[in-house]
Amino acid sequence: MGDLRRDPVVNRWVIIDGERAEREAIFQMELCAPIPAAECPFCPGREAQDDEVFALGKPGRAANEPGWWLRVIPDKYPILRREGTVERRLEGIFDLMNPFGIHEVVVETPEHHKGWPELDDLQVERVLSTYRTRSLDLRQDDRLRQLLVVKNHGRAVSAFQHPHSLLIALPTVPKGVEEEVQGAAYHFRQSQRCVYCDVIEQEVQMGKRVVLESAQFVALAPFASRFPLEVMVLPKRHAADYETIGDEELLGLAKLLKTVLGSLEEVIQNFSCSIILHTAPLHQDLRAIYHWHLELLPKITKVAGFEWGTGFFINPIPPEEAASRLRVDSER
Ligand SMILES: [Zn+2]
Ligand SMILES: [Zn+2]
Ligand SMILES: [Zn+2]
Repeated sequence: MGDLRRDPVVNRWVIIDGERAEREAIFQMELCAPIPAAECPFCPGREAQDDEVFALGKPGRAANEPGWWLRVIPDKYPILRREGTVERRLEGIFDLMNPFGIHEVVVETPEHHKGWPELDDLQVERVLSTYRTRSLDLRQDDRLRQLLVVKNHGRAVSAFQHPHSLLIALPTVPKGVEEEVQGAAYHFRQSQRCVYCDVIEQEVQMGKRVVLESAQFVALAPFASRFPLEVMVLPKRHAADYETIGDEELLGLAKLLKTVLGSLEEVIQNFSCSIILHTAPLHQDLRAIYHWHLELLPKITKVAGFEWGTGFFINPIPPEEAASRLRVDSER
């Protein structure tokens, strides 16, 4: 295990771990071959390999037995571990922490080959409600500062084809969320309003970047999208914490996400993306200023050296074009 380290200039925390198996792949630049169902650790029949943290399944089913609809298990090769305490130390001007945290895998269905667009609404709703359940549980641990959910969809983002997502809880707030919190706090100080609510109001009124709108949610191509065909999904009801999502909203979100992913799959061949849940940092009162959302980031162009080096992204697809291509109505 390595360290969590903070860059002293940009305030960004990174995990430094020189012992990880994937190091070799970085030097070889090869695409990993998908793991076949016969060897898939997430498929039914291999439950005993992992001690589940949480599961949904048939009534009367015993833990780590078949009969599940969804399982949450610890990651086999965790980047973070829950043992011990959060120890922060200094080395001159450099700031370090031990890799304390949570790293779990949500195995979203027993069916190896089904992505969200092929799963029924109820099963996707189970996945979304599991994010809520785990979030409510992990919130009890006051050493944790941030919950992140990363859902990988498609062949370019993970060797594991079996539908799954990662639940990560950190002892520190990552740069991406921190920047959003600071930006939202600034907007709130200026206007006494939530910046995300203002974006929703204006985008729904203008319509040209809206991909899909339901009674409870809106999917839009962000005005300053970093990546081609990037989509952001926001609840219309202002809420900072994902875990406050209601049962009806879970079903509505499941339906909307299935439609948007289906649309992306139609527009982009061999479509892959990461879906990131951004929710308010834990143990801070950000109820008025922050607004949870999902970011759908398609893997299309390779990030060029310029973008890696500068953090300044170049996106060749205007979000207005992205929205019009992805819209499910007759305009396509
Ligand atoms: Zn599988
Ligand atoms: Zn809001
Ligand atoms: Zn975000």
